[in-house]
Amino acid sequence: MSGRSSTPGRPDVVIVGGGVVGCATAYFLARDGLSVMLIERDSVASHASGFAYGGLSPIIGVEEDDPMLPLSDAADAIHRELAGRLPGESGVEYEYRRKTSLTVATSPLEVDDLRLAYDWLATNYDGEVVWHDQKSLRELEPRVGASVIAGLFADRSGEVEPYRFTLALWQAAERSGAVMRNAAVAGVERSGGNVRGVRLENGEEITAGAFVLAAGPWMGKATEWLGIDIPISPLKGQILRLKAPGEPLAVSLSWSHNYATTKPGGLLWCGTTEERVGFDETPTAFGRDTIMASVIEVLPYLADAELVQHTACLRPVAPDGLPVIGPAPGNSGVFIASGSGRKGIFLGPAMGRSIADMVEGRESSIDVSRLSPDRFAGIR
Ligand SMILES: Cc1cc2nc3c(=O)[nH]c(=O)nc-3n(C[C@H](O)[C@H](O)[C@H](O)COP(=O)(O)OP(=O)(O)OC[C@H]3O[C@@H](n4cnc5c(N)ncnc54)[C@H](O)[C@@H]3O)c2cc1C
Repeated sequence: MSGRSSTPGRPDVVIVGGGVVGCATAYFLARDGLSVMLIERDSVASHASGFAYGGLSPIIGVEEDDPMLPLSDAADAIHRELAGRLPGESGVEYEYRRKTSLTVATSPLEVDDLRLAYDWLATNYDGEVVWHDQKSLRELEPRVGASVIAGLFADRSGEVEPYRFTLALWQAAERSGAVMRNAAVAGVERSGGNVRGVRLENGEEITAGAFVLAAGPWMGKATEWLGIDIPISPLKGQILRLKAPGEPLAVSLSWSHNYATTKPGGLLWCGTTEERVGFDETPTAFGRDTIMASVIEVLPYLADAELVQHTACLRPVAPDGLPVIGPAPGNSGVFIASGSGRKGIFLGPAMGRSIADMVEGRESSIDVSRLSPDRFAGIR
């Protein structure tokens, strides 16, 4: 499929979901000249894409032949490219910046894992990678706690303000002609076995040439809609924004599944939790206390910080932890883009580029062959 729709009033492509993945897909398709309608039931970036931490952390390929590595490499390149043009195209400044990262270990087991990461980076990455023992770590960041025993410093990461980044993708898509429909999709309509349209909750049908389902953790619904297994489920995570005493952190710190960074506005963001609690997006006292306990162990000076904001949102996760990108088996013209887990802000633009290629009838410019939806049970 290429060029604008030949059927007046019918978009070339309908995208379901206005998170980072849906908006990135809309951006690339609209830029390539296709007519796009994005259907979002709430508002752009009103779930995880607006409340994530915003770290851009490429994969460390310690597992041999990691199926995510080509997507990660592409995501890194696309973010750098977008940083040069997207603020101008959209009118939205989204605080993209490169930021050095310091991953720290608090147990001998974590030191072993960090060593593997160091060895991989030392062989595969050209930039700055430094191993720190307890002493040199304290010279770099004197405020780390006594339990921190080693650290890996690298200049490979970046950061964005996730809400503004997703909004920038959408605003640029809109400037290229994409339109938004504020409605909830309730199913699909078929003719002759093929998907002809999506059905809204009010019963209205919207037809299109192709359909991209990018509904984040709610993608499990597509199992009912399409009759294939799309086993994506929500994994809740919480984040705190603190007014911290003293100087800002000079590096982005991470440890275990947690992290802390000072954002350009001056607040220190830290997290996180991994909770299997269904679709509950409420910030809780449990989340706050779990995060603060871990943060104070690594950065004891934050015991005096003031809690300014507390958020929670849901990551879309597949059983094997990998993204799900590609044509929906047995449903010609329908494409799935979800399962980005803890890395959707980073991976979203590359997922969007890949899906746009497929919708336009080309082979994906990024190797996502091992991330295809057909790796699950297949047609029922
Ligand atoms: C605490 C936390 C921290 C994170 N930090 C980072 C980070 O530092 N770096 C990183 O790369 N990633 C991070 N992530 C992950 C990232 O936020 C997600 O992977 C990403 O936002 C998922 O984007 P998405 O577009 O797939 O889904 P979402 O952002 O959830 O968007 C899906 C959209 O679909 C809409 N929708 C659903 N069903 C329907 C329907 N039937 N009809 C119409 N609309 C529908 C929803 O309203 C929603 O707006 C974090 C996540 C969490 C929870």
